Amino acid sequence: MAERKKTDPVVQDLPDFSEYRGVMIVIEQRDGIAKKVSWQLLGRGRKLADKLETELSALVIGDHVENLAKEAFYYGADKVYWCDAPELKDYRTRPYSRVCLHVIEEYKPEIVLIGATYTGRDLAGAIATHLPTGLTADCTELDVEPDPSRLLLASRPAFSEKMVATILCKQYKPQMATARAGVFEALPKDTSRTGELIKISNPMTESEIATRVLDFIQDEKRINLEDAEIIVSGGKGLGGPEGFKLLQQLADELGGVVGASRAAVDAGWIDHDHQVGQTGFTVRPKLYFAIGISGAVQHIVGMQNSDVIVAINRDPNAPIFKLANYGIVGDLFHIVPAIIEAVRMKRA
Ligand code: FAD
Repeated sequence: MAERKKTDPVVQDLPDFSEYRGVMIVIEQRDGIAKKVSWQLLGRGRKLADKLETELSALVIGDHVENLAKEAFYYGADKVYWCDAPELKDYRTRPYSRVCLHVIEEYKPEIVLIGATYTGRDLAGAIATHLPTGLTADCTELDVEPDPSRLLLASRPAFSEKMVATILCKQYKPQMATARAGVFEALPKDTSRTGELIKISNPMTESEIATRVLDFIQDEKRINLEDAEIIVSGGKGLGGPEGFKLLQQLADELGGVVGASRAAVDAGWIDHDHQVGQTGFTVRPKLYFAIGISGAVQHIVGMQNSDVIVAINRDPNAPIFKLANYGIVGDLFHIVPAIIEAVRMKRA
C-alpha cells in the first residue's frame, strides 16, 4: 500500500495519538511454557515495529515466569513487562485483563497483538471492550502504514471466507488484533539478546477475584495441530473413516498427529479439530504428509509453510505435487503401509 501524505483525508481525520507508541505482544503461557503463536507474533511484531521505527515490547503474565520474560528478549522484544504473582498462575479473564489494562493505560502501546487461541480470544475481547477500542479477530495477515497514519492493517477472511478484508481502527488506540497460530514465523532464538525488563505489580488480590480454578481435565481426544512438528493429514482419497486408522499408525510411528482436509471432515470421517486450511488450523510443522489430498487452495493456505511436504496421491496431476518437496504417485493403501514398515525396520 502506498504511503499516505499528511494531506490525505484519512490522516487529517485521525485524532492526535502521538502519546501512543510501540507494538506490544501479550505472551500466552500454560505452566510456564509459552504458546508458539506468541513467539510467532513477536517475529511479526518486530517487522511492524521496525517499519514504524518504534519499540517492540512483550507482556508476560503468570507465576514464576521470569524465564519467559528472558525468552521474549531472545525472540525479538526490546522491552518486557513482567507481572508475576501466585494469583496469576492460571489464566482467569478478570485478573489477566486487569494486568493488560494497567500496562496499556500506563505505557500506551499503539498496537496490541494477541494469539487467536481460546484464551487469547477471551482476553482480547475483555481488554478491547473495557478500553474501549476496536479489535480485529483471527487475522491471517498484519501490516502497518508508516508515518503519518501509523495504521494497523489487520486482514482476515470475511463473507464466509470467500474474501480477505483489511480492517482499520482509525478512531481509537491501541489498535488491537488477534492472529492465528502458524501464520507468522518466529525469529531464530538469539540467546545473546536482552533488553529493558519492567516489573509490574499485580493490581488484584485473590479476594477481589470472583472465579477459582479448581482443576484442569485433559481432553484426551483433543489434539494440538498448531504446535505439532509432524502432521500426517488425510483427505477424501482415504475413502472413509477407516483410512484414518492407517494414518494414525503412521503418525504414532513418527511421533506426529493426524490432520485432515475439509472434505474428509465434512464427510464426517474425522473431527473438525483435525482440519487444516482456511477454515481449519494454519500449521507450520517440520514434516507434513498430504495423503489422498488434491491440494485445493483452501487446504494449501493452511499448510504451505511446513518445512518439508510429502504428498501421496494416485493422480500425477494433483495440484498438491506442485507444492510438495517429495511426491509419491500411487495408491495410498499400498504406500502408507510400506512407509510404516520401513520406519519400524529402521527403528528395530
Ligand atoms: P478431493 O479434492 O476430492 O481430493 C481427493 C484426492 O485423493 C484426489 O486428488 C485423488 O486423486 C486422491 N485419491 C483418491 N484415492 C486415492 C488413493 N487410493 N490413493 C492416493 N490418492 C487417492 N479444504 C480444506 O482442506 N481445508 C479448509 O480449511 C477448507 N476451507 C474451505 C473454505 C471455503 C470457503 C471453501 C469454498 C472450501 C474450503 N475447503 C477447505 C474445501 C476445498 O476447496 C476442497 O474441496 C478440499 O480441500 C478437498 O479435499 P480433498 O483434497 O481431501 O478432496
